[in-house]
Amino acid sequence: MPAALNIGRMEHVCGFCGALRWAKEAPGSCCSKGKVAPPFHPSPPPELAELFTANSPLHHKFMTNIRRYICAFQLASMGCKKVRQPGWNPNFTIQGNVCHFIGSLLPADGAQAKFMQIYFLDDQLAARTGLFEGLNEDVLRLLEQVLQRCNVYIQSLLPAKQMLDALPDQRRRDD
Ligand SMILES: [Zn+2]
Repeated sequence: MPAALNIGRMEHVCGFCGALRWAKEAPGSCCSKGKVAPPFHPSPPPELAELFTANSPLHHKFMTNIRRYICAFQLASMGCKKVRQPGWNPNFTIQGNVCHFIGSLLPADGAQAKFMQIYFLDDQLAARTGLFEGLNEDVLRLLEQVLQRCNVYIQSLLPAKQMLDALPDQRRRDD
């Protein structure tokens, strides 16, 4: 087994923007030595911020499966032409453009809803719980509530869902 590689802690502070970096990371890679000044990111909603601290009773459940929670709330999937490197290397190179697939608003008959289609279901919690093993309903419920309250993209889907819900079943499938 190869020896573990220690890259140290991410504790070096950029003198221009305050970003943290590792010791061997090039200075200025974050903000080009102060030439780029993106707007400061607003603080996350308090219940979301608390999930990242041990103060939350859901902290461990959230952090253990954080990638799965992120995937459970994805609106789209990534599309690109992947060029795999030979051998053991798990990386790939993207050839051409990267795009996002959003598909149709409703899944095909008998198919499981995925990505944005889940946001058009009445019981989103049940759909997301079944996506991956180890997802906790309380964490999913909290994330769903925060996104519905704070995320403009999720909020923009609500009028479309209301229009879709108002259509008779046959019309929903035909259009
Ligand atoms: Zn910087």
